[in-house]
Amino acid sequence: MIVHLNKDTSREEAEMLAEKYEAALLESERMILVTSAKVKEPQGALKDATHEFFVTDTDIQLASKQYMKSKRQVNIGELVIGGSSNNSVVITGPCSVESEEQIEASAKLCVELGVKVFRAGAYKPRTSPYTFQGMGLAGLKLLDKMRSKYGLKIITEVRDSTHVDEIIEYADIIQIGAKSMYDHGILRKCGKTNKPVLLKRGFGTTLQEFVQSAEFILSGGNPNVMLCERGIRTFETKTRFTLDLCGAAWLKEYTNLPVILDPSHAIGYAYGVPDLARACMAMGVDGLLIETHPNPKVAQSDAEQQLNFEQFRDLYQSLKKVAEAVGKKVV
Ligand code: PEP
Ligand code: MN
Repeated sequence: MIVHLNKDTSREEAEMLAEKYEAALLESERMILVTSAKVKEPQGALKDATHEFFVTDTDIQLASKQYMKSKRQVNIGELVIGGSSNNSVVITGPCSVESEEQIEASAKLCVELGVKVFRAGAYKPRTSPYTFQGMGLAGLKLLDKMRSKYGLKIITEVRDSTHVDEIIEYADIIQIGAKSMYDHGILRKCGKTNKPVLLKRGFGTTLQEFVQSAEFILSGGNPNVMLCERGIRTFETKTRFTLDLCGAAWLKEYTNLPVILDPSHAIGYAYGVPDLARACMAMGVDGLLIETHPNPKVAQSDAEQQLNFEQFRDLYQSLKKVAEAVGKKVV
């Protein structure tokens, strides 16, 4: 249950109520308590302090349409994602920052096409400890250089909670990777900032678990959360993962968070990315994340799925048409 407290409730009183009713406390225009969804009505002292309350079926609460019918808006500077906009943000860049030359070539592709949000990982949460782990802080500084040189917005992933502050400093969006979806150190730290967060779905998690992870960030006080479906593990082995478009439809219908789809990590092979990306765009989502590399063959991570620049240029033009057909605008 979400309880909006009376305007005259003091912080001290709100903290006391939060403790008594085992609720999360967050502050926006007024103080808000979030108890378990099992509680269906304010009682006792809580009742006296209640301005209005919202009941949800499950612990998908702050992210649910039962609480907030309209889609939340996330602002990346002047760029609007979600809300009442019809924007669909196409995010591209390589899987990893590998060198200044590579990252600059990739940044220039964005400038050429008018892509505003540039992605690349500096801290890579790899499946094997014996593969390239990312350039770390040096990689972040290269991204920052591209940000100031070309005016791009940067999204990059956090591998553990000790990186959150660095990512806040050097990037515009914090990406929480699929393998970190359950990392409470990261989730809680991201709840304490206002920096936009892109939360990727763990590949072995249900939609309920996914959105409940987002609840940790929202209930920590950060409303700027976007969800990213990037493929789940099924019995199928011909493709890397299975993109859960049914899940994406569910997220659009039942949550108030912007939804971004990542066809690259889902299929894992470049040949299928353009078709899949167009299918994603046709769903009318708030954005796509597509990996590109100046020379995918030599990429240090996710080599098989990254599009070369020619492939991306073609795809980008066709995405604009698909977007238009479903009332969206590529930004
Ligand atoms: C990535 O975006 O490069 C990445 C590692 O994605 P995921 O967390 O979805 O595997
Ligand atoms: Mn990748």
